[in-house]
Amino acid sequence: MFDFGFGSQMNFTALEIPYSDITAYFATHLHTDHVGDFGQIRVGSWTSGRLKPLEVYGPSSNKPEYGFAHFVKHQCESCRWDTESRVHALPAVGAEINCHEFDYSEVGVIYEKNGVRITSFPAIHIMDGPVSLKLEWNGLSMVYSGDTTPGEFMIENALGVDVLIHETFNTVDQLMTRSGYDERSAKVIGTIIHSDPTEAGFVIDKCDPGLCVVFHFFNDFDTAPEMERAIREHYSGPKPTVA
Ligand SMILES: [Zn+2]
Repeated sequence: MFDFGFGSQMNFTALEIPYSDITAYFATHLHTDHVGDFGQIRVGSWTSGRLKPLEVYGPSSNKPEYGFAHFVKHQCESCRWDTESRVHALPAVGAEINCHEFDYSEVGVIYEKNGVRITSFPAIHIMDGPVSLKLEWNGLSMVYSGDTTPGEFMIENALGVDVLIHETFNTVDQLMTRSGYDERSAKVIGTIIHSDPTEAGFVIDKCDPGLCVVFHFFNDFDTAPEMERAIREHYSGPKPTVA
């Protein structure tokens, strides 16, 4: 599973997919909307019958205390009461974690098993650490951007993929008029920390995926038409699925 942000496990549970079907979890970066459900993936899979350590992968940073291993260690420490209250009732191995921290700054394979290959490459988001992830299996490919502004890494690694799941925030105007941001904050968050929809459309056009899904914006009746129009400024390929 790529990312496990707050609320994601509620959606995941609603889909009635058994936790035991997920063999490993991968984080793109350590914002809570991407990793906030860590406690739930750990305990949810444990109480659902996981009989081996939890396998988690995530990026390093420029300092150890900003890296994924630090995050996992202290998340677990903060949940000590939870873990110890369950360890007498559930198989203790379920509390164990195999944490795999990989170099955020490299383009490289971080997972290869049963024909599944996952490659990490740097994302340009905020501070050091964020990555995008590419999954390849059986001749099919998918790239998940995580959070990123436009960059050559994405265009190089997502060129011609079957599915591109790319982030975009709302337009600067929408962030100001609907979300109440001041102009400076809207521009910083909407175009420097994230891709605005015209930027996302530019990257999607360069990557030319078989299918594109955009995410990471307030998707409502009064935002979606403008978002699609902005994406279409540069992208004229298959009609995007707006999620
Ligand atoms: Zn983020």
